Amino acid sequence: MRKKIVAGNWKMNLTHEEAIELHSAIEASLSNITCEVYHFVPSIYLKSIIDQKKQVQVGAQNAHPQPKGAFTGEVSMQQIKTLGSSAVLIGHSERRLLFNETDIFLKEKVDAALQNQLTVFFCCGESLQQREQDAHEEVIAHQLNNSLFHLSESDFKNIIIAYEPIWAIGTGKTATSEQANAMHKHIRNLIQHKYSLETAEATTILYGGSCNPTNAQELFSKSDIDGGLIGGASLKSTDFLSIISVYND
Ligand code: PEP
Repeated sequence: MRKKIVAGNWKMNLTHEEAIELHSAIEASLSNITCEVYHFVPSIYLKSIIDQKKQVQVGAQNAHPQPKGAFTGEVSMQQIKTLGSSAVLIGHSERRLLFNETDIFLKEKVDAALQNQLTVFFCCGESLQQREQDAHEEVIAHQLNNSLFHLSESDFKNIIIAYEPIWAIGTGKTATSEQANAMHKHIRNLIQHKYSLETAEATTILYGGSCNPTNAQELFSKSDIDGGLIGGASLKSTDFLSIISVYND
C-alpha cells in the first residue's frame, strides 16, 4: 500500500507567532489519521517549529545545491538538515518561473538533497498554454527525465512527486479529478518504463493546485492520487484539518 501524504506549503506567509500557532493547532487535532502530514515552512522558522513538532513532519520550501560558499542569502541542504528538516520541496513552479530555476539546476538540488538524507518532494506541472496545445504529457516527461531519471532505482525511492498544473495553483481553478488522475497514471507509466512496475506502484504522487476542503475527497478518491500538496488552504487550520480528515480512519 502506497504512503498517503497531505502536505502544506506555507510559501512566504505568516508571522513567526502565527506559524507556531498554526503548527500547534494541527498537531493538537491529529488523531486516527492514516496519512503522513508535512508542513513546508519558511526556512527561518524551521528550528522553532521542529522544536515543537510531534506527528507533523517539517520540511523546507527551498535550499541551494552547493554545500557552502559565497551564495549570499541562500541556505544549503546541509543547513536545513542540521536543523532537523526531513524533507525539501524542489521544482515548485514559483521557483521555476520567478527564480528562473532550470531542470539542470533542479537536478543538482535533487542530488544534494539525497546526499543529505532529505526526502525530496519534486514538483512538476504544465502551463495552461501547454495543456491547451495538448503538450502536457510531454512537458511532464521532460521535467522528470531532466531532473530525476538520472537517479538509481534505490535513490528514487526517496522521491515523492507532486503534480501541480501551473494553471491551477492559487487560481481557484482545480484540475478535474479525471484530468489529475490521468496525469498521475502517465507519471506512473514513465516511472515504470524507467525503473520497474514495483517502483512505479510504490511511488507516492500528490496532486497540488487549488485543492480545498470541498474538492479533496473527490480528488483523493482516485486510484493514482495519493494525497495533496496544499498551498492556500494549508494556512487555515480548519481547512487543512478538513483536507487531512479525508484520510481519517
Ligand atoms: C502550491 O503552491 O503548491 C499550491 C498547490 O497552491 P494552492 O493550493 O494555493 O493552489
